[in-house]
Amino acid sequence: MGLSCLLLRPFKKRAAEIDFMRLKGAKESILETIGDTPLIRLQQASKDLNTNVYAKLESFNPGHSAKDRIALYAIEKAERNGQLSPGGTVIESTSGNTGRSLAMVAALKGYKCVLFTTTKISFEKKALMEAYGAQVVICPKEAHADHPESYYERAKTLHAETPNSVYINQYYNDSNVEAHYALTGPEIWKQTEGKITHYVACVGSGGTISGTSKFLKEQNADIRVLGVDAYGSVLTKYHTDGVLDENEIKPYKLEGVGKSIIPSSVLFENIDKFYQVDDKPSLLRARELAKTESIMPGPSGGAAVEALYHMKDEFTPDSVVVVVLPDHGAGYLSKLYSNQWMSENNFLNRVDYEPKTVEKS
Ligand code: PMP
Repeated sequence: MGLSCLLLRPFKKRAAEIDFMRLKGAKESILETIGDTPLIRLQQASKDLNTNVYAKLESFNPGHSAKDRIALYAIEKAERNGQLSPGGTVIESTSGNTGRSLAMVAALKGYKCVLFTTTKISFEKKALMEAYGAQVVICPKEAHADHPESYYERAKTLHAETPNSVYINQYYNDSNVEAHYALTGPEIWKQTEGKITHYVACVGSGGTISGTSKFLKEQNADIRVLGVDAYGSVLTKYHTDGVLDENEIKPYKLEGVGKSIIPSSVLFENIDKFYQVDDKPSLLRARELAKTESIMPGPSGGAAVEALYHMKDEFTPDSVVVVVLPDHGAGYLSKLYSNQWMSENNFLNRVDYEPKTVEKS
């Protein structure tokens, strides 16, 4: 018997015993904690808008964002389809959250994970992906989607060159919409006891809003589904005119909101109206939520709540509004929650945060 067999024996025995035990009050793996995120009343927004606003806190997923849902769903679908088998590689082009969730699921299932992202990514998001063992490749954010150096093209090329690999490609993958149809929609319907009247979510890949709204509208076709987009993105104009107008594309700071392409995972027919928001009020709204509601969202959560204030006329005192807060602010400590970064980008004045001298009486 080799040395490695001797060393491994006690561990193998322990693993078998644990498997045998199956404690009723415990989860068998972290992946079982994905979904069933809480719905929390937003006190201030409900008061300001004279209605009932509830936030769906996706930061309660183990990878701290809504993307855990699609990562698990897409990887398990690829396994079922025979696209991915032990020793395989999970590949994605991602602005951060999807990458982290894929890295988390891949780590537990024993797959390699290679993530292509852009220079726009925050330090924290990159470190989080690497913490789960993923290889992160940074591509120039200026590269056009079909340029060979863009993060989309680099991912596609690696997939073509790597046997037993899956390119998740969330913008064009049906799993993205299906995961939210299967999980998020039914959760919200149950949590609101079927009383939901308005569903509000940021649109990036569109998976969250499209899958959830498909389920909700099947239960009650009168539910209003309102998409939140960024100024500088092409989605709102496309929804109105059916034209991809590249003149709409402008730089902006909100991460995860809006797009410069039209993903097939945005089901425009399931979205009643789009509202666009600016960087500054969205970022300030996120910071305000942390201080007033003790809920610390990422920038897109700030954008979603900011958008509610533009939608005021949609609501009555009897409305039940559900707004999705897609991730947690801890991933943005060097940006949104950094006073220095906020003032360098003219989102905050130094006088608003610098400590005041206290006069002695
Ligand atoms: N917020 C954040 C922080 C995100 O990463 C994303 C996804 N890019 C979204 C919102 C939008 O979600 P979806 O892709 O499902 O439209």
